[in-house]
Amino acid sequence: MTDPAEKPSHFIREKIAADLEAGKHSTIKTRFPPEPNGYLHIGHAKSICLNFGMALEFGGTCNLRYDDTNPVKEDQEYVDAIAEDVRWLGFDWPGEPCYASDYFENMYAFAVELIEKGLAYVCTLTPEEFKDYRGVPTRPGKESPHRNRPVAENLDLFSRMRGGEFPDGAYVLRAKIDMASPNLHLRDPAIYRIRHATHHRTGDAWCLYPIYDFAHCLEDALERVTHSLCTLEFEVHRPLYDWILQNVTLPKPLPEQTEFARLNITYTVMSKRKLLTLVQENHVSGWDDPRMPTLVGMRRRGFTPAAIRAFCERVGVTKFNSLTDYALLEFCVREDLNAVAERRMAVLNPLKIVIENYPEDDEETFEAVNNPEDESAGTRQVPFSRELYIEREDFMEDPPRKFFRLGPGREVRLRAACYITCTGVIKDADGNITELRCTFDPDSRGGGTPDGRKVKGTLHWVSARHAVPAEVRLYDRLFTEPEPDGIDGKDFREFLNPESLRTVTGYLEPSLAEFAPGAPVQFERIGYFTADPDTRPGAPVFNRTATLRDGWKGK
Ligand code: ATP
Ligand code: MG
Repeated sequence: MTDPAEKPSHFIREKIAADLEAGKHSTIKTRFPPEPNGYLHIGHAKSICLNFGMALEFGGTCNLRYDDTNPVKEDQEYVDAIAEDVRWLGFDWPGEPCYASDYFENMYAFAVELIEKGLAYVCTLTPEEFKDYRGVPTRPGKESPHRNRPVAENLDLFSRMRGGEFPDGAYVLRAKIDMASPNLHLRDPAIYRIRHATHHRTGDAWCLYPIYDFAHCLEDALERVTHSLCTLEFEVHRPLYDWILQNVTLPKPLPEQTEFARLNITYTVMSKRKLLTLVQENHVSGWDDPRMPTLVGMRRRGFTPAAIRAFCERVGVTKFNSLTDYALLEFCVREDLNAVAERRMAVLNPLKIVIENYPEDDEETFEAVNNPEDESAGTRQVPFSRELYIEREDFMEDPPRKFFRLGPGREVRLRAACYITCTGVIKDADGNITELRCTFDPDSRGGGTPDGRKVKGTLHWVSARHAVPAEVRLYDRLFTEPEPDGIDGKDFREFLNPESLRTVTGYLEPSLAEFAPGAPVQFERIGYFTADPDTRPGAPVFNRTATLRDGWKGK
């Protein structure tokens, strides 16, 4: 158990500490309750870090619970992916995951208990009438003509609803609370509806499914959750959460709901429905496209669990909805990768240079440091020969004074290798530069500084003969607008960034050919990259995880 005092505090941490201090609970239990109707996104990561994080910090436990009460949209594919993502983020739960559907029988019994107590009734109002009777917050609603149906009749109808006698929508079960409450959620909300649909776990055993508000609090209570943490939009549902728990027979203490602000990030959309649209319409290659804000996408992009956890910690937990800058997420990614990613050289826009005073058939290797931030990462050998590639942008034929890279007659250092001076520029018939001629100073081999002279520029390079060509996928933000949702009533898809993926052939130093998917690397002077699962022996594929600096200029 870590010391809670070490972390910057927030109201939920303080509440849990106070509850334990006051003896309300001997140990705490939280839960992360995704609906398996899509892949998890970075917003869910905030909830995961909070729920599992609080449990870890206070020596309690956190359940993974699938909130699978809506049979229509749920799928085993999502169930499996969710568990994998939570583990990938670095968290675990006691025993098997829980499923709301495991409690269908209990929930049914609780509904019967409400009916028997005169606190629930079967209603036949149509959805339109239902809405009309419920009314508006400023005026009391109108009671359903079925509100005072006798208990025996309610019990009979409810059991026949379960039996499959009626079509979808014919009846609902409603809690009998208060049609005059200013809180519309308390105006006899529906708690059960008929839905003839096959459930991903219970199959066709049920044609009657509980409504979220009824199910969720009971799931919490049955699992003996102490702190049920959810996002702010559920604040107005809290009186209903409490009402249900107080009116059925449950062990005490009852769970308590506390709300926090959801995470919103610029330049992306976060609802599963919109993300599904992007997938289905092929705007992206799948849920795991590296541009997606999903955890599978971020993993493929090369974002690390540590970076995502650090990001969630920095965003904090508040009661106010706000918009977080995507740049903060990238900052956290860079901060982590700077510490852990090994450095390698790769040239993405090659310009050939020929070192005229280096023998044609010779080659040698130079020792290069793998990570200046981490001595234990060691060194590697990088092959060098007469023909090299440097980055085209690192040469200018007529450079300004402040351009500290290569130009005619100028000298630069090649990282870990030697000093070179440009002695000639070769062009094709159209005047395009095709090749540079250079000489090297043999006394500068291995990074020495001959006669103490200094050069300002250091370039990365690869040996042309040894370089491994690779497909390099340069990713950028998925949308051109910070808030692509709801601009002038336009569809978010209108703001997709047409340059969010650019693919180039890069030339890699040979050691990069062996990088396994997921292992982070910094291409020196370019950015952070990770090998894609599409990588094959001899045909590497790398994804750009992040640039070295925040270079986003907007549109
Ligand atoms: P979406 O709107 O993306 O479909 P959801 O809230 O319907 O999300 P659930 O599967 O119900 O998705 O969410 C599981 C848990 O994750 C819930 O407790 C929910 O409050 C939390 N959660 C979802 N989105 C966010 C977010 N953006 N920030 C923080 N928590 C979130
Ligand atoms: Mg939901």
